[in-house]
Amino acid sequence: MNIHEYQAKAILAEFDVPVPRGMAAMTSADAVAAAKSLASDVWVVKAQIHAGGRGKAGGVRLCRSLQEVEAAADDLLGSILVTKQTGPAGKQVNRLYIEEGLQIDREFYLSLLVDRSNEAIAFVVSPAGGMDIEQVAADTPEQIMTQVIAADAVSEQESRIMAEWLGLSADQSAEFHVLVGNLHRLFRQQDAAMLELNPLMLSADGHLIALDAKFVLDDNALYRQTALAELRDLDEEDPRETEASQFGLNYIALDGQIGCMVNGAGLAMATMDIIQLKGDKPANFLDVGGGVTVDAVCEAFKLLFSDGHVKAVLVNIFGGIVRCDIIANGLLEAIKTHPMSVPVVMRLVGTNQTEGRAIIKDAGLDVRWADDLDQAAKFAVAAARGTL
Ligand code: GDP
Ligand code: MG
Repeated sequence: MNIHEYQAKAILAEFDVPVPRGMAAMTSADAVAAAKSLASDVWVVKAQIHAGGRGKAGGVRLCRSLQEVEAAADDLLGSILVTKQTGPAGKQVNRLYIEEGLQIDREFYLSLLVDRSNEAIAFVVSPAGGMDIEQVAADTPEQIMTQVIAADAVSEQESRIMAEWLGLSADQSAEFHVLVGNLHRLFRQQDAAMLELNPLMLSADGHLIALDAKFVLDDNALYRQTALAELRDLDEEDPRETEASQFGLNYIALDGQIGCMVNGAGLAMATMDIIQLKGDKPANFLDVGGGVTVDAVCEAFKLLFSDGHVKAVLVNIFGGIVRCDIIANGLLEAIKTHPMSVPVVMRLVGTNQTEGRAIIKDAGLDVRWADDLDQAAKFAVAAARGTL
């Protein structure tokens, strides 16, 4: 789960990581009021979307008067920001963060992530931080170093290696050691999957301050990070995924045209692979899970039938715990409100397969039956092309 920059900075502040003073705003009047109360003569108005690359896309504005703050807020709120990370559709800006403007001496890159192969948390740092870090990674990767943290806290030696890499002075290195210790503590206590400060800046007066912050929570920890879970912003998520999650469906939207309904994550992956092998692309990953109900199957079909990208639906059920009659009844429920707008190919085998098929046949539904996955994928690809 992602959270906004301003929310991540509030967490950083709780862990004594220096951040600029700032306030969130939902309207331009709020933005001006925030700027006034921050008592500064330079402000930065920052679009809050769950994507980076805002600076280059005009989503980070340096303002030198309250009029400029108001104009920037008016301009950004409600606009669609298209950055390298949003994809061509962009994201609508609904929230702003107003910060005091600071004098930057240098911009570093610093992130923490879970290094699975070392079973440890690792820092990634570079002296060439800021808006061009992707370019640095592509052109001069030797400027980026990874420091694995061996124990439960960052050692003096580990932080010294990173501080030297960044070219910090002795005073700054001492400050850096405290900073990385706090970040490491935050990362563990808040169950982060990723924490990125880009830039971590060295201010004109020689202090380290997190100028940007990205925090990704490990979704498996949502149950115990209840305060963080409340920061979820549904406006930033794909509405189809939000709806699916309410019914306990494991759904991820993709960019192909074959809608998939499968039981089991492994089978769902295999189904997507074989669709690709047959020359098309899946419109989604969907694992309905073992304990699925008629209601949830009904919702899943509605989701697929109302998705304008879907040109054919492939149902691949290998019923073990899932019963085929539940899938069939879910389809019957769904078409009461969402007619079968596209061809449906069904491979329905396993527990109660005879009952499941009978339910669909008795209802007179025009589905194409397949005997195995290979045939099902072939049919679905042809159906999507209108050649079945
Ligand atoms: P991103 O482009 O989405 O990663 O947004 P950032 O928060 O990283 O901001 C982009 C850039 O804006 C930074 O790399 C800085 O150069 C600049 N910036 C952000 N805050 C300030 C500030 O307080 N003062 C100045 N002078 N520049 C800032
Ligand atoms: Mg940034």
